[in-house]
Amino acid sequence: MQWKDLKARLLAVGQVHLTGEPAEQYIARSAAGPGAGGSGAVFFVIGSQRVKLVLDPLSSIEIAHQGNGIAELFFEGQHISGHLLEPGFHCPDQAFITVTGSCIFSCKYCSVPRIAGKRKTIGEIISMVESVRDRIHAISITSGILTSIEEEETYVLDVVRHLSSFNLPIGVSIYPTKTTPDRLKELGVTEVKFNLEAATPELFYRMCPGLNYGLLWEVLDRSVLLFGKNRVFSNVIVGLGETDAELETCIKKLTSRGVIPVLRPLNPVTGLAGTRRPSSERLKTIFGIHKRALEAAGLDPRLALTMCTNCTGCDLVPGSDE
Ligand code: SF4
Repeated sequence: MQWKDLKARLLAVGQVHLTGEPAEQYIARSAAGPGAGGSGAVFFVIGSQRVKLVLDPLSSIEIAHQGNGIAELFFEGQHISGHLLEPGFHCPDQAFITVTGSCIFSCKYCSVPRIAGKRKTIGEIISMVESVRDRIHAISITSGILTSIEEEETYVLDVVRHLSSFNLPIGVSIYPTKTTPDRLKELGVTEVKFNLEAATPELFYRMCPGLNYGLLWEVLDRSVLLFGKNRVFSNVIVGLGETDAELETCIKKLTSRGVIPVLRPLNPVTGLAGTRRPSSERLKTIFGIHKRALEAAGLDPRLALTMCTNCTGCDLVPGSDE
């Protein structure tokens, strides 16, 4: 089976049952993203390609850890050799840190408000980065919202200011104000990700009451002007109820403006628990649309230095997953 097919099938399930030797050092625990607040996740790797799977003892897929990260994947009657990656923070190769682990908004697909974690101090964040410095090539920052969008931006800017001494590329993904791209650029941030999350405004307002879809487009346009091609990203969730045609329109609108879409299969939690994950066939269809749209716009996800497009764990990424 080709990697792209295998990864699409694994992402359509999303979970794995881990057996064998103790694997604590290979388990990523996250305060945001798929699997946040749960029992953790692992990165299964073949060659230079990887997939992140959330741990669930009830999953039909098994990964048997044989020691030293060497692992066997048992899936659909097949037996596939690979290994587990040791995470930096949240993902391999990066310190991807959630600054504030709670949120005043309640987007239906997101587990951060339910987890209601605390805000990390700048000292804590610096110590986290220092503890994995020898095995990361980037720092990525995301955040919930503790009291207001403006207050969160101010705090995250302060965090970023303190991280510049590491001399690593920094990626930032927060809910923005109009001036967030300019402020991040002034601080020397390398890449930004402002997430549309939904393919249409109707779905967005159903999923994210109180947030502003139009502002996100404005901020993405400004970001491309400031950060340039291949440095601006936006997550769009696959499986919120959009049609393929709606998703295609959204993908093309993003790429034609110089933004690389991050097409994230729905992980049905909180308000969407019980919703079906997108099928592997749908993920492959969308991969084709995504690939053609990126090529037509002259965008290349392999150039990403930070965040999800560099990590590739949770999504099918054209260029990397082929
Ligand atoms: S793709 Fe993004 S959300 Fe998934 S593990 Fe990597 S950095 Fe985290």
